[in-house]
Amino acid sequence: MSTAAAYAIPAPDGSFEKVTIERRELGPDDVLIDIKYAGICHSDIHTARDEWGGTKYPCVPGHEIAGIVAATGSAVRKYQVGDRVGVGCLVNSCGKCVPCLAGEEQYCAKGATWTYNNPVPETVQPGGYTMGGYATQIVVTESFVVAIPDGIGLDVAAPLLCAGITLYSPLRHWNTGPGKKVAIIGMGGLGHVGVKIAAALGAEVTVLSQSLRKRDDGLRMGADHYYATSDKETFRQLRGSFDLIINTVSANLPIDNYLRLLALDGTLVILGLPDQPMSVTGRNLAAFRRSLAGSMIGGVAQTQEMLNFCAAHGIGAEIELISADEIDSAYERVMASDVQYRFVIDTATI
Ligand code: NAP
Ligand code: ZN
Ligand code: ZN
Repeated sequence: MSTAAAYAIPAPDGSFEKVTIERRELGPDDVLIDIKYAGICHSDIHTARDEWGGTKYPCVPGHEIAGIVAATGSAVRKYQVGDRVGVGCLVNSCGKCVPCLAGEEQYCAKGATWTYNNPVPETVQPGGYTMGGYATQIVVTESFVVAIPDGIGLDVAAPLLCAGITLYSPLRHWNTGPGKKVAIIGMGGLGHVGVKIAAALGAEVTVLSQSLRKRDDGLRMGADHYYATSDKETFRQLRGSFDLIINTVSANLPIDNYLRLLALDGTLVILGLPDQPMSVTGRNLAAFRRSLAGSMIGGVAQTQEMLNFCAAHGIGAEIELISADEIDSAYERVMASDVQYRFVIDTATI
């Protein structure tokens, strides 16, 4: 057992405070990582504030982890001390079920182990629950660690470990490429990375944001068009336009309004995870044979593929680097859609 310094929230309405946490002893397949940067995903906020229910306190969030290998277990072959590595939302899965064997560990039939707020498998650490990346170190099984290519800075790579793969996976699944019209709803942490990746894949990209405030940034990142959803005219003008719409919004939306923007056989993919249900009118799906779908992050192999793709296309997240004592105020700014475009904690300040 080793210890790490971390920032934990003690209760749903509490403030983050510095704590010491235990990390498991290094097993043969384990990698000890010195965390350098940890992104703040909106899922961290949903969990820290117990919006989804079931949060265990104290809670150390953080699943956008970039760092350097500090030690390796005796059977580790893929990584050496000093390697640049990342960890995303997953730290374990059964490895035997159909989704796991297909490299889709996030859909593990037995339930994957998430990087924080999840019971640790009995075989790994009986009675433990996971603590995430707002910390100085983490121990992760080799097969859930990915390599960060030299071309990307660790700070701008960190958000790719969740935001990047969460957008890359559905964009690839629904065959985004030249000739495809893709709209991204929400120009936040997920959305801005989605704009960059969809543009690099060759699609015609439209941003649907609440206002035109971030329009120049969106166009600079590769969007071809940018519309304000506060303007009713947007929904009239864009009716029947898109092959794929990706919803990254953390709050409920009037889904029917967005379904009507899909072309024949178009798909609306839900990524945002607000805690309340949203309603859908059947005729908006039936018309034009539209689909409503969802997608959850991506598997380990695809996360590595995404990082290699981003390095080859010069894609990193656009970040505001903060110190650990600024986490509470960063959360407030994310809640107010006032982030450009991902807060990243410099873990040297923990
Ligand atoms: P974020 O940085 O807060 O971005 C969300 C964006 O949604 C905001 O920047 C804002 O964009 C828009 N928005 C916020 N409130 C809105 C409202 N009331 N009405 C309309 N638009 C609104 O959050 P994120 O980190 O990108 O995460 C977004 C959601 O995805 C969260 O619910 C998170 O839990 C979920 N998530 C899901 C997965 C998955 O695997 N499915 C993975 C990661 C995160 P504009 O200012 O441009 O309007
Ligand atoms: Zn996330
Ligand atoms: Zn499995």
